Amino acid sequence: MKNVALIYPNKFKGGISCLAMHILHHHLNKYRDIRCDMYFLENYSQIKNRDAIIITLQYENDYFNVVKIVEKLKNKNPEAIFIGGGPCSMSNPLPLSDFFDVFVIGEIESTDIMYRLINREVDVEGTYFPEYHGKSKENFKSIKRVYPKKLGIEDYPINQFTHPSGAYGKAYLLEIGRGCPRRCKFCMARSIYYPPRFRSLEDLTYLVDEGLKHTDADKVALIAPSVGDYKYIVDLCKYIKERYNIQISPSSLRVDTVSEELLEVLDIKTLTIAPEAGSERLRDYIGKDISNEDIERALEVAKEKGIDGIKLYFMVGLPTEEKEDIEEIISLSKDVKKKFRKVSISINPFIPKPCTEFEREPFNMESKATIKYIEKSLKRHGVRVSYENFNSMVIQCVLSRGDASLGNLIKEYNKPNQLLKYLKKKGLLSKYLGALE
Ligand code: SF4
Repeated sequence: MKNVALIYPNKFKGGISCLAMHILHHHLNKYRDIRCDMYFLENYSQIKNRDAIIITLQYENDYFNVVKIVEKLKNKNPEAIFIGGGPCSMSNPLPLSDFFDVFVIGEIESTDIMYRLINREVDVEGTYFPEYHGKSKENFKSIKRVYPKKLGIEDYPINQFTHPSGAYGKAYLLEIGRGCPRRCKFCMARSIYYPPRFRSLEDLTYLVDEGLKHTDADKVALIAPSVGDYKYIVDLCKYIKERYNIQISPSSLRVDTVSEELLEVLDIKTLTIAPEAGSERLRDYIGKDISNEDIERALEVAKEKGIDGIKLYFMVGLPTEEKEDIEEIISLSKDVKKKFRKVSISINPFIPKPCTEFEREPFNMESKATIKYIEKSLKRHGVRVSYENFNSMVIQCVLSRGDASLGNLIKEYNKPNQLLKYLKKKGLLSKYLGALE
């Protein structure tokens, strides 16, 4: 029997809402000779004498926790193989290459990758062993990503553990599809989960029936990069509503997929949309492909359906951005506020992520001032403006594009601000933020 610890390197709240945790837990416990338990930031320190420790790498800013976790568990688990997986593992695991034996580059369903790694096999497709392959970008890029051509139901975690403190509440996570048919040039999800694969309506209704039978969820959270692009989204939502009369919560919807029928059945109070850029010109340039008319039409539909709150997501510091594009974020938000009672916008800096068409673009440090300017301009118009801590966005950029030399620095300066200060002092920041050759 192999004893495996599966860790989410942040709080329980996020981990229990992370589908990857449920998928891995379900996948591994199907093997008769594997026992896999889940852990989170709150309880990982009790892990000892395991054969394998798997950490899911969902966000770059978790790397500080990841390094602490690995350092703490190495001695208490001398026989364990340390395995990293998840989106950051697929896009660029180099900053963590000193801390893991192996990274999985791809999706594990319908494969025996995890099983073979836990059993110490080394010649496994879709895996990157930094010590063996080498720790350069070229070495890493030579690894071929693996993924199932079709998403089956046999590997789906029906028996999900739910909890009211989860990020989506007590929700059953229903993955409609993986990969996105759109072509936004800044989007990492699009490239690392390519090609888009949606589940059949028949499979999804089966997964809803079984999931709601086996969990005590009081809502269904629809998971997909672009939920509204699913051909049978209305049929699926109608099925859930009519059969279970339960709340359905979609992640954000593309405005061009918002329809009367869909809003009717979703029964939401706030519509969340992500124009990303204020002007149509910039939206076209970044591949977002949403016209002003699309936005207007979605807002009209929302109004008709009695929705009184709108949340808009924007990015600033995008390639080719001009002052006019920023002014259009402000005027669009003001226009929306004239029509809706509650309007909030979330603005964050554009981060040139690896594996995207914009991966070589620079990170714009002026974005901080731009965000403040937008906030100031909208304050007196009653639009709520929120944004992430700017320094942690800078560090996210550094880590997402970083190399193996960052590993030691993460360990030594184990907080984002401290690492940032060091990189600034040593004049290293531009190496990670500037335009790439
Ligand atoms: S629609 Fe969303 S998920 Fe799809 S490519 Fe664009 S940003 Fe990415």
